[in-house]
Amino acid sequence: MFTEGIKIIDAHAHPILNEKYAKDFPFWSAFSEGFQSGASRFNVENTVFYQRSVIELCDFFGCAEGELAAEKNKLNAGELFSKYITAAGIEAVYLDDGFLKEGSRGIKWHSKFVRTKHILRIETAAEELIEKNLAFSDFIDAFKDGLKKNAGHIAAFKSVLAYRGGLEYKKAALKDAKSEYGPVRGKKIRLSARSLLCFLLEIAMLAAADAGTAFQFHTGFGDCDLEIHKANPVCLSNIFNDPIFSKLNIVLLHAGYPYHKEAAWLASVYPNVYIDLGLAVPSLSNAGIQETLCGITNLCPFNRIIYSSDAHFIPELYYLGAISARQNLDAFIKRLVSGREMSIKFAHKAASMILRENALSIYENK
Ligand SMILES: [Zn+2]
Repeated sequence: MFTEGIKIIDAHAHPILNEKYAKDFPFWSAFSEGFQSGASRFNVENTVFYQRSVIELCDFFGCAEGELAAEKNKLNAGELFSKYITAAGIEAVYLDDGFLKEGSRGIKWHSKFVRTKHILRIETAAEELIEKNLAFSDFIDAFKDGLKKNAGHIAAFKSVLAYRGGLEYKKAALKDAKSEYGPVRGKKIRLSARSLLCFLLEIAMLAAADAGTAFQFHTGFGDCDLEIHKANPVCLSNIFNDPIFSKLNIVLLHAGYPYHKEAAWLASVYPNVYIDLGLAVPSLSNAGIQETLCGITNLCPFNRIIYSSDAHFIPELYYLGAISARQNLDAFIKRLVSGREMSIKFAHKAASMILRENALSIYENK
């Protein structure tokens, strides 16, 4: 098949939980974005994603569904993670550790089993500095220093602006950012002051463009701490149309789903826009993943599509993401080849671009 033998770069994922947090975290809840808002075990277990995942994992361990937990418990977290990474043919994982830091294993821990690179979430970096109670100008200098120090060796910067009022970026004036900084200075907060967020985002995007570091945006679906209509990637138009950001490689995470067709149009007309498949792969049904690939490739060139799993919390999701990507890409590309829309030679190239080459090119300059 077309994806066979290709080593995968998982270009956007999150660390797995540490022992303390994993203990009280039910396995099923990693299969829903609704856990924090109260999705029940009954709801999650009745999804195609969960049912398919159980079948895949039972195949992997050669056991029945009732034996799965016991089979997994025979191995410690490192052994499990390593086993999944090897079986899925994953070469590298890029990790955003900006969420639930206190409950997660560090990036260093993951590096013992697979090559890793860091994704720096800019809102978390800003929140950590806000706590330090610095004067505004010192805060901005420290934020810039942090970006500069990291830009050369991380995979990407990331923004969760979608979760902080939506993706409609507007250039902010320094005086407005400064007046919003006063009330939050020295506090442990979840930053949502809009002018301050946009002001910091501009600084981060310019630093990334300057260093040739890619920039990931959360777009499309996620948990319900999101106003979904404000997560449509077309809301980022002010950024795409501003020439000061024209050198910045921008990655639309989660395929922008359900706005993947809009994301595809953006990637087809702006030379610096890419689409990442994570979360759509593997959490949709196989039919849904292939429909998404279809909606994207109607317009979007193959050199702009990047695989990731958006795995988080449990090691299984790295494996399930990778095998789902291989299965669905193979099935989807096969259809294009049999319909004489693509040569076999190009089909192999397209699979390699999505699973590996595009990520190496924009995140590692290879
Ligand atoms: Zn993510």
